[in-house]
Amino acid sequence: MSTATIPAPVKSDIKIKYTKLLIDGEWVDAVGGRTFEAINPATGDVIAHVAEGDEPDVDKAVKAARKAFESGPWQKMSASERGRLMFKLADLIEKHKEELAALETLDNGKPIRDSLNADLPLTIACYRYYAGWADKMHGKTIPINGPFFCYTKHEPIGVCGQIIPWNFPLLMQAWKWGPALAMGNTVILKPAEQTPLTALYVGQLALDAGFPPGVINIIPGMGPTAGGAIAKHMDVDKVAFTGSTEVGKLIMEAAAKSNLKRVSLELGGKSPNIVFADADADAAIQGAYFALFFNQGQCCCAGSRLYVEESIKDQFVEKLTGIAKSRRVGDPFDMKTHQGPQVSREQFDRVMNYIDIGNKQGAKLVTGGSRVGDRGFFIEPTVFDGVRDDMTIAQEEIFGPVMCVMPFKDIDDVVQRANNSIYGLAAAVWTKDITKAHAIANRVRAGTVWVNCYDVFDAAAPFGGFKQSGIGRELGEYALEHYTEVKTVTVKL
Ligand code: NAP
Ligand code: MG
Repeated sequence: MSTATIPAPVKSDIKIKYTKLLIDGEWVDAVGGRTFEAINPATGDVIAHVAEGDEPDVDKAVKAARKAFESGPWQKMSASERGRLMFKLADLIEKHKEELAALETLDNGKPIRDSLNADLPLTIACYRYYAGWADKMHGKTIPINGPFFCYTKHEPIGVCGQIIPWNFPLLMQAWKWGPALAMGNTVILKPAEQTPLTALYVGQLALDAGFPPGVINIIPGMGPTAGGAIAKHMDVDKVAFTGSTEVGKLIMEAAAKSNLKRVSLELGGKSPNIVFADADADAAIQGAYFALFFNQGQCCCAGSRLYVEESIKDQFVEKLTGIAKSRRVGDPFDMKTHQGPQVSREQFDRVMNYIDIGNKQGAKLVTGGSRVGDRGFFIEPTVFDGVRDDMTIAQEEIFGPVMCVMPFKDIDDVVQRANNSIYGLAAAVWTKDITKAHAIANRVRAGTVWVNCYDVFDAAAPFGGFKQSGIGRELGEYALEHYTEVKTVTVKL
């Protein structure tokens, strides 16, 4: 049992101001007049009714975004002026950070201390980082053969559709808008149906900052309808998606069958976290705990396959279990809470089902495994020992507070097993031996490898997946190439 019990989650007095679609600088109802319910996952209560966009709304947004891309103030604006607007947006988010953090906690369920100390600062830093890039991305002059002058220009792609998940709503919006706006594109964002509220709030801040009408458009709605309409639209030039590998494939298929729009994907993971016997034990235990349980386990890069060298495995599990048991699960608005509810009833059921499968397939449940409380979607921090690589819980993305621990023999053994996955998003290694650290960093097929740390994110450091974890990189300079086309110009001298 986790030590925590759930005090009735406080009824929030946050005023929800923005619930409509943002198209061409105006807040509008959906063409079909439909709305959907936004739910507080700590209570299950309905907190707002949000306009539900569908194909006709996406179509209106695409027309507005096309017009803004091809004519008007955005098209004429200098790169540095675009950067200034983005700095202004970052300043406005910072000015409203308490309210945005509370809204994120209300809609998503994540503890307020995480919203305040992780989501908001990372979001603000991301906009500032890309604001700085606006006037620093440029082409080359190329010494080709003959009497010619040849140069490249990096031009915006055009109208970019962006479909984001619910685990880090504000941050995913920043990862998408940052490089897209810095490079001069126009955007249509579809937030996840579970968490539309902060995206809409930031939409108003973008209008306040002075982004011209049509440059940013937001269409809350369902995946297959609003999201699907973006992915297959003939006049959307690029689609960027973060979410499940399954839906990522649908996005790519829709892009292929429509207009071959550019596609970038950030998908799932089953990231190996590798602890050698010579590691700093306390740091590795804290690191393994954080790597999995942060954000209710709802991280694409969660360290969800914990490989521990066999000589220390039992004592490692014992200590890790101790920390998991002391995790405070409860009211996300309490600053002392470590873990809030899962984002939705659907995700709660999904995670509970994986726990059931783990038990049935013979993994050893050492702590947790049950629901906490009787309202909202809270799950005990759960640790399975005795997990085998062929078990479902060791292969599929659980996306919840469920740790799977497996022993390993040596480097060759663990590298082979770490790489035996359809995913390749992230990995980590804990050791004091620099040779082992580099062996893992070199041999594990993953887009990010952390050495003696986990979940270190910075707007400047690229992030994305090998294999079925995605296509392309977000963040850093690398993200810019997914929001630009290269034009080669050759002039006869
Ligand atoms: P999902 O279905 O992949 O949702 C991600 C985004 O895609 C949401 O905005 C969703 O809209 C949209 N979407 C869904 N179906 C679509 C379609 N046919 N066409 C276009 N867009 C579509 O993820 P989920 O159902 O929320 O979660 C399922 C699992 O995905 C999780 O358990 C986890 O394993 C994984 N996941 C990964 C990440 C990540 O960061 N890589 C994030 C979230 C989830 P709606 O929400 O409105 O349906
Ligand atoms: Mg919600």
